[in-house]
Amino acid sequence: MTFSELDKTWKKVFELAWEGNLPIGAVIVDQDGNFLSCGRNRYIVSKRFPNCKVDHAETECIQELDIEKYPDLKNYTLYTSMEPCPMCIGTIIMSNLRKVKVAAHDAWAGAADICIQNSYAQKKRVEVEFADDLLANVQIALQGSVELRNNGTRSEVYKSFMEMYPLGASAAFKLFSDKLFADLTDITAEKAFDCVVGILEA
Ligand SMILES: [Zn+2]
Repeated sequence: MTFSELDKTWKKVFELAWEGNLPIGAVIVDQDGNFLSCGRNRYIVSKRFPNCKVDHAETECIQELDIEKYPDLKNYTLYTSMEPCPMCIGTIIMSNLRKVKVAAHDAWAGAADICIQNSYAQKKRVEVEFADDLLANVQIALQGSVELRNNGTRSEVYKSFMEMYPLGASAAFKLFSDKLFADLTDITAEKAFDCVVGILEA
């Protein structure tokens, strides 16, 4: 699998991930696959808010959706490269979106289980579907490498990635130790994706 073989929605998600400063991207599509809104994670430096900690891809994507123009939320799908955190899953539930597709489980902050466990959320019937292992491991490698760079090998987040996705987390360690993608702007999303797939398949 190369970037050029991805379907156009996942391509867009990984391109958006690369625009953030923590590589997580999200997009909302209609039933025909048209892009309606997009978001990227700016958890480290925000362009939108004084408080970068809550500038997340999925929440941005929903906040930026023009619901006058696109009111049919129950029939749209939100794609994201990482399982939404409690804030983002809450925003998804409150937005009336019903379908979510995710590349990787987030063993650290993922909160998709709120959709099943919370009585209010249950009424909204949000379906969360996870993609195949390759996309998941690419996401874990990209995000894990940034986590290692920011917080080092003792990072609890990285350890949680290693427990759930040892292949992706090992690729993250290689990216980190080889100092690849030290600056996310050094390389395009496509090249980064293909580089990670090469490491995963080696
Ligand atoms: Zn979030």
